Amino acid sequence: MSEIKTQLVVLGAGPGGYSAAFRAADLGIETVIVDVNSKLGGVCLNVGCIPSKALLHVAKVIEEAKALSAHGVDFGAPKFDLDKIRDWKDSVVDKLTGGLAGMSKMRKVKHVQGYGKFTGSNTLEVEGKDGKTTISFDNAIIAAGSEPVSLPFIPQDDPRVIDSTGALEMKDIPGKMLVLGGGIIGLEMGTVYSALGTQIDVVEFLDQLVPAADKDIVKIYQKTVKDKFNIMLETKVTAVEAKDDGLYVTFEGKQAPSEPVKYDKVLVAVGRRPNGKLVDADKAGVTVDERGFINVDKQMRTNVSSIFAIGDLVGQPMLAHKAVHEGHVAAEVISGMKHYFDPKCIPSVAYTEPEMAWVGLTEKEAKEQGISFETASFPWAASGRAIASAATNGMTKLIFDKDTHRVIGGAIVGTNAGEMLGEIGLAIEMGADAEDIALTIHAHPTLNESIGLAAEMYEGSITDLP
Ligand code: FAD
Repeated sequence: MSEIKTQLVVLGAGPGGYSAAFRAADLGIETVIVDVNSKLGGVCLNVGCIPSKALLHVAKVIEEAKALSAHGVDFGAPKFDLDKIRDWKDSVVDKLTGGLAGMSKMRKVKHVQGYGKFTGSNTLEVEGKDGKTTISFDNAIIAAGSEPVSLPFIPQDDPRVIDSTGALEMKDIPGKMLVLGGGIIGLEMGTVYSALGTQIDVVEFLDQLVPAADKDIVKIYQKTVKDKFNIMLETKVTAVEAKDDGLYVTFEGKQAPSEPVKYDKVLVAVGRRPNGKLVDADKAGVTVDERGFINVDKQMRTNVSSIFAIGDLVGQPMLAHKAVHEGHVAAEVISGMKHYFDPKCIPSVAYTEPEMAWVGLTEKEAKEQGISFETASFPWAASGRAIASAATNGMTKLIFDKDTHRVIGGAIVGTNAGEMLGEIGLAIEMGADAEDIALTIHAHPTLNESIGLAAEMYEGSITDLP
């Protein structure tokens, strides 16, 4: 048993954990980071954001190449070498996780590999390959993230039932796959497999895909993919029977097929569960709720003043960039700064094709909060760049406070929507109004121009000088 004494221990090396550890080290705090994985980066870099985007890049190029045949360029049917596709994805992950290892070393952040659990309010025990390490600390940041939710009525040990991690492994290209859950992760993986030739069915219990986004945005997405995905809304899976020749899935609900449907694979993408209950936080006196979330204040402090928590396990939205910013705040507060986490907006992006992206308040949220608002939209069918890029299935929408004309939210559906969203986020954070955005000269012809044009559509955005 080895022993370490440190000022700060960070449990979990995902985007939240490594960002907190690096910021703390930069602020002169002696820092140890613990992760069961040998590579830093957590879910996001190893089995989440990054590998999925490497595969989505491949999917996008395939689809764009196919679409070009309508404009006189035909590359023929694509041939796939799964080993090389996998190598590409793995090389992207390795590059980034290797970079993190370098940055960690440079900052003298010590990585202890193993599974960590609290044993007291200032001690953590890590069970590693080479035995146990006891770490005593002044402060701790819990950044243990989340894991995919599994469904009890679906065979757990059948390799044809996969979660997002299994889908990213790309072991084969199934002929027909059911994506169970119409959220961002399921749709992204469906986009990848569809481009590789898999027939995709999506089943969603609610009445719209990506329930957090506004209906008008999702409607345009759904219309665009209707020939690629068979989407069953207000429908649920009630049973999955594993037979030698496939998985037979029984459905119930509005769009349920009357007979069980045979699939080669079922991707379960019904959400993620926080890992708060798995780290014995209670032994440190930290309260964890029923679901595994840890409650924190605006400074990311738990009910134990020396212990902080960040990332997926402190609540929705479970997104890497939220975890990063929370990690920075926790480290800064530990160093004595008075910072707190109170963003006006956290962007969300579904990197599907077309992408769906939103930031600030959605219309749904504004209504729930009783805010009087107005919207202005610009359809991409009227955008020169969208027409020239054959990407007219898109829309840019801005949501304004009715009294102040300040932008309080925005949503975009269309190719590269995620890249465009930053401008709206900045406008919200800086309190810009419709006139500020309308008077900002956007380059022509760009898709970004649609943000300025949406603001111009808002009545009252152009006023005379006083
Ligand atoms: P995590 O990244 O979950 O990291 C937690 C770490 O803690 C892990 O490395 C784990 O091994 C370690 N750990 C847990 N318990 C212990 C323990 N007891 N001892 C030691 N180590 C432990 N988000 C986006 O913003 N954009 C995207 O495009 C995006 N795409 C995604 C795609 C997929 C397929 C998935 C699954 C997720 C995606 N996400 C995306 C979500 C994103 O990955 C998470 O929000 C983010 O990783 C959360 O960061 P975190 O720091 O809270 O924890």
